[in-house]
Amino acid sequence: MIIDSHQHFVRLARHPEVEGFRQSQLAGKNPDALPKISDADVAKSLEQVLSLMVSRNIDVAFASPRAKAMATHEGTVEQNAVWADLNNGLILRACQLNSGRFVPVGMLGQHPTCPSEQVAKQIERWANEGFVAFNFDPDGTGGRWQNPPFTGKHNYPVFEAAQALDVPLVLHGSESVNKNFPHTAVQYLVADITAFVQLMMAKDLFRDFPRLRFLIPHAGGALPCQIGRWRAIAKYNSWSSPDEILGNGNVFVDTCVYNHLNMQMLFEAVPLDNILFGSECDGAFPGVVNEETGDHYDNTRRYVDDSKLSSADKDRVYAGNARRVYPRASRWLKA
Ligand SMILES: [Zn+2]
Repeated sequence: MIIDSHQHFVRLARHPEVEGFRQSQLAGKNPDALPKISDADVAKSLEQVLSLMVSRNIDVAFASPRAKAMATHEGTVEQNAVWADLNNGLILRACQLNSGRFVPVGMLGQHPTCPSEQVAKQIERWANEGFVAFNFDPDGTGGRWQNPPFTGKHNYPVFEAAQALDVPLVLHGSESVNKNFPHTAVQYLVADITAFVQLMMAKDLFRDFPRLRFLIPHAGGALPCQIGRWRAIAKYNSWSSPDEILGNGNVFVDTCVYNHLNMQMLFEAVPLDNILFGSECDGAFPGVVNEETGDHYDNTRRYVDDSKLSSADKDRVYAGNARRVYPRASRWLKA
């Protein structure tokens, strides 16, 4: 089995009724009724991604709402809770309509002023609906990075819920208002490595939550290329080392890197037990071709397939690790 642990239903999120709803919210109109998206529209939005999954032999994808559209810096606390519920409802319906192909990962109604108890309640509600993990924006201020590190006690209610319900948090960046940091090119990757370093800096977090698990997308940002730097600074500042937080089974990364060399670096820098296959299938840069392979850049299966890993190790990366890190996914997966 091959599980793509990192996918977003971008086309579904771009349905005019869905985007129109958010625009109305942000214009202060607060529409009473949620947009009515037909099952046919949901199915149509998934045609492209399903055909890519067939051509790439990806059996199942863990799918979440569009990351840019989380936009947790915009709106109000109330609006963002409704916005997250709307998106989660669509994700759930898409997964139910395609039994065995998709597993739901949610978004959360974060906001710089939202009490984290409220976010924790949302985790509980959607985990009870079958969600297996939740995207959590470690910035939450649109690329301004004005909040204290996400690992602080202000987020403990979120971590308590995630640990109690056995759902990992995917530390995924969102929209950037800073034009120096375009979201897919920079902000997401800054969010990845910032989140990783904040986890190294957090002295008590894994003592307080020993079973809490975080997934950091895109190979942990700069992690494979600069792991030596973070090993050095960890010693210098008496932080947890990258190897410690990876080795303790609290932090995982995915294979969303778009060339052979960096995939190999990932496999050499990070323990294989901490790496989950991910491809953002049809998400990040749809249709853009990598001349190195003659295939789409985001067909990350090629780089894993062509790597020097043994077939047993590939099995761990392709499915075994995802099943272990996302235990609630088992009810969605066919045997
Ligand atoms: Zn993503």
